[in-house]
Amino acid sequence: MRQSKLFIKTRKEAPADEVAKNAKLLIRAGFVDKLQSGVYTYLPLGLRVLKNIENIIREEMNLVNGQEVLMPTLHPKENWETTGRWKAMTDLYKVTDSSGRENALGPTHEEVVVPLVKQFVSSYRDLPFSVYQFQNKFRMELRAKSGILRGREFMMKDMYSFHRDPKEFSAYYETVKNAYKNIFDRVGIGAQTYLTFASGGTFSKYSHEFQAITTAGEDAIYICDKCCIAVNKEIIEDQKNSCPECGNKSLRAETAVEVGNIFDLKTKFSAPFGLTYKDESGVEQPVLMGCYGIGLGRVLGTIVEVLGDEKGLVWPKEIAPFMVHLVEIPSENPLVRKGAEKLYKDLVKKDVKVLWDDRDLRAGEKFADSDLIGIPLRVVVSEKTLAGKKFEVKERSSGKVSMLDGSQLLKKCVAS
Ligand code: ATP
Ligand code: MG
Repeated sequence: MRQSKLFIKTRKEAPADEVAKNAKLLIRAGFVDKLQSGVYTYLPLGLRVLKNIENIIREEMNLVNGQEVLMPTLHPKENWETTGRWKAMTDLYKVTDSSGRENALGPTHEEVVVPLVKQFVSSYRDLPFSVYQFQNKFRMELRAKSGILRGREFMMKDMYSFHRDPKEFSAYYETVKNAYKNIFDRVGIGAQTYLTFASGGTFSKYSHEFQAITTAGEDAIYICDKCCIAVNKEIIEDQKNSCPECGNKSLRAETAVEVGNIFDLKTKFSAPFGLTYKDESGVEQPVLMGCYGIGLGRVLGTIVEVLGDEKGLVWPKEIAPFMVHLVEIPSENPLVRKGAEKLYKDLVKKDVKVLWDDRDLRAGEKFADSDLIGIPLRVVVSEKTLAGKKFEVKERSSGKVSMLDGSQLLKKCVAS
């Protein structure tokens, strides 16, 4: 894509009302725009990253046999009364239309998915299975000061699984745990993200959160370096300040953000909706459920918090909006434009995603923008590089610079 055609522009200053690093950098780089507190638009570059994260999650959910659906945002009040959450959930957005009908804007989808699957489940033969979606959620978050880490409208992947017995549920829960580990590895925050034991509420001893270490987080966790797991502050006392796996008492305190979680729901939602199945002997049994969430914006914002530096964003290759930022230094010499155009076409032909900075701006401005936008490889085409018959290639994450000829460059970009 030619950068001159992008309708967005980068900014030197972040808006004064943004305090979070992720929001400041993403707005300056033109990846997102704030409509109001906790509500953001994804602009072309930001959306490319969000979609890359979405695709990684989709691949991993499909590998655990999740079936993708898309459920509505507008939920009838009755469904929320059935579970008691119309009253109990204080962050629920409620809308009344001109006919007086009341609806909830979905903050989560148990109230929709359970009545949905109930139509198709009657026998033990119909189980197990899981469904998932990518959907905007709405929550009246009191503090929306963390940029896209805590939105009032935000994109979530939510999966729900349905089982016959605890053993079958547990086995599936473990496969999803693994899939989550793959997801956080692939999006580039595997090293910072810990499986964390959290209190499970009234229904089970533990739930599991995936917590990424960052000072931008709102949670306190205690890490066991022997087991590479953590315990949330809320349950550390129940745990007698020790690791739930090995009993280790020297745990390391860190600040972290919850990027995902997995939950044993037991019959919490199947019971109120009467979701049951007939077992082999014809006896009616309650369906057991699990739920599994990941906030896509939260993941994206966490990557910015963890990897971004003083110059700007730094994208891991798997989720970067483009692989190569081709920075053409404007020149009177028409060979520079020709050289840039040829390289652009060669890379695109090899399926390398390239943003070509073909704008008529000074080199310094272009380099600053390139660092701000954070594309993994910056390739400079200028009179100087053409004269030397080599391109200057800089890796955004390490700052490492190398001079490569055309075929070396193609090889490097394709391999990336
Ligand atoms: P938190 O404790 O941070 O409020 P939660 O326990 O309410 O999170 P869930 O309801 O389990 O979160 O949602 C599943 C996932 O959705 C979370 O792990 C997180 O990644 C994401 N998420 C939750 N709330 C928000 C939000 N307001 N903005 C962006 N992502 C969110
Ligand atoms: Mg919450």
